[in-house]
Amino acid sequence: MATCKDCKSFFAREDDRSQGDCVMRVVDPRQAYYQATPVETEKDASKCSSFQKK
Ligand code: SF4
Repeated sequence: MATCKDCKSFFAREDDRSQGDCVMRVVDPRQAYYQATPVETEKDASKCSSFQKK
């Protein structure tokens, strides 16, 4: 099963490897930026439409 840790957008936390950030590039009409959302390392990625294999 693929989990968030197998995803290009996942960045593990230094202090707690069971947690990480899902970092997504967001583009709106005026600007593009990165948005980080906390996720669990072992979260099931099969239902995530943004999953990209590392
Ligand atoms: S939530 Fe989706 S896009 Fe974010 S790290 Fe997990 S699988 Fe990747």
